[in-house]
Amino acid sequence: MRCARCGDCCKETSMELSEEDILRLIGLGFKRENICVIGEDGLARLRNIKGQCVFLSKDAKTCTVYRNRPKGCMIYPVNCDHEGEVFVDEFCRARGTISKSELRRKSRTIKKHLDIIDEEAKIRKRSPE
Ligand code: SF4
Ligand code: SF4
Repeated sequence: MRCARCGDCCKETSMELSEEDILRLIGLGFKRENICVIGEDGLARLRNIKGQCVFLSKDAKTCTVYRNRPKGCMIYPVNCDHEGEVFVDEFCRARGTISKSELRRKSRTIKKHLDIIDEEAKIRKRSPE
């Protein structure tokens, strides 16, 4: 796809994170509590500061951890609902530039990724830190 780099998807983000995502970002020197929040549902999500992702640049256009960004950010705007239906987020202005092969590839990836995240959330709920 041809991302317009508008930064819109990085504002008021609720992007879910896997432990692999979190550990990758911790490896860059960030503290867990500064980059993610854990909801009552046990899910880890990117932290927002003043209405935008903690990793969005000051000009609100670029991701400061682009090469190490969460997998969900790499897959976006392809997403998956609670019934397992894959969809392309209408919010993204570049949604029409996704090729069929990219959509197929990302569809497979998002399902596996969200399954892992759901399992990790269940574990957190069973044994909160
Ligand atoms: S990690 Fe980067 S791509 Fe993902 S929401 Fe934050 S700023 Fe955007
Ligand atoms: S993925 Fe879509 S919403 Fe996000 S920065 Fe690119 S064009 Fe904007």
